[in-house]
Amino acid sequence: MKFVTVKTAEKNSVGVINEQYQKVVLLNRAEQARIGKNSFPDSMTECIAAGDEFIQQVRKLVAWVDTQENRDSYYQLLDEVTLLAPIPTPAKNIFCVGKNYADHAIEMGSAADIPEHVMVFTKAPTTVIGPNSIVLNHQTITQQLDYEGELAVIIGKKGRAIKREDALDYVFGYTILNDVTARDLQSRHKQFFIGKSLDTTCPMGPWIVHKSAISNPNNLSIETKINGEIRQSSNTKQFIFPVEEIISVLSAGMTLEPGDIIATGTPAGVGKGFKPPKFLQPGDKMEITIENIGTLVNEIEA
Ligand code: MG
Repeated sequence: MKFVTVKTAEKNSVGVINEQYQKVVLLNRAEQARIGKNSFPDSMTECIAAGDEFIQQVRKLVAWVDTQENRDSYYQLLDEVTLLAPIPTPAKNIFCVGKNYADHAIEMGSAADIPEHVMVFTKAPTTVIGPNSIVLNHQTITQQLDYEGELAVIIGKKGRAIKREDALDYVFGYTILNDVTARDLQSRHKQFFIGKSLDTTCPMGPWIVHKSAISNPNNLSIETKINGEIRQSSNTKQFIFPVEEIISVLSAGMTLEPGDIIATGTPAGVGKGFKPPKFLQPGDKMEITIENIGTLVNEIEA
């Protein structure tokens, strides 16, 4: 199942995609027709927090729509809706793992930069934008805007001190995230936060794939293209720290909550890694594809 947040005239709505037809069912619109009331929460985070009950309720609704003679009236074509980031306004900063692929750690420095322990920084919630939205070029403050294609984990259940072997039980699903970074600000200010938190520098989506459709998050191909040129091509099996380890380390003393977002790091091939570097330019088109999830497309402000 793929979950989307759709911008509608009234308010944002959570929807589920019928993959056979590439169409969206807005949950509450269909639920109104089925039982005469909106029984789904309005935001994706609240839906996620409702746990397995939410998934069962969606399955029931999707099956009902399928049996209706006028079922087409419940569907909207993906092309006809505006998708926002699946979680458009996260409740807290996005957790980001740094240097989680050895080849990327080396391109950013040397083999000495391969971390022994999970390295984590965060991005402000105000960075988040959806698929096909424009990333501001921020030319007055940075000349070194860079892309980072990443698998993102969406936490589904509250927990602390989560054991590695239980970690995937705490996952709701997975999406694609572009950890856009101002390299000059990242190095000037020592701590990564400013260089990672410029407005619009966290494109996310286009949807969250429920975990039931991803048997192993640590074995997914990942590819980033800039203006059609392949820059990053790897597989999450190259992770230094697999998803289970990241969740276990992050939650050791800090509570993780439904809707928390964890970006798992980027493979080699970022702009800074080229000689000379290939930083993003106004008008550049970025496309990140992850196996079994989809493609996230965004352009830099021209
Ligand atoms: Mg990153």
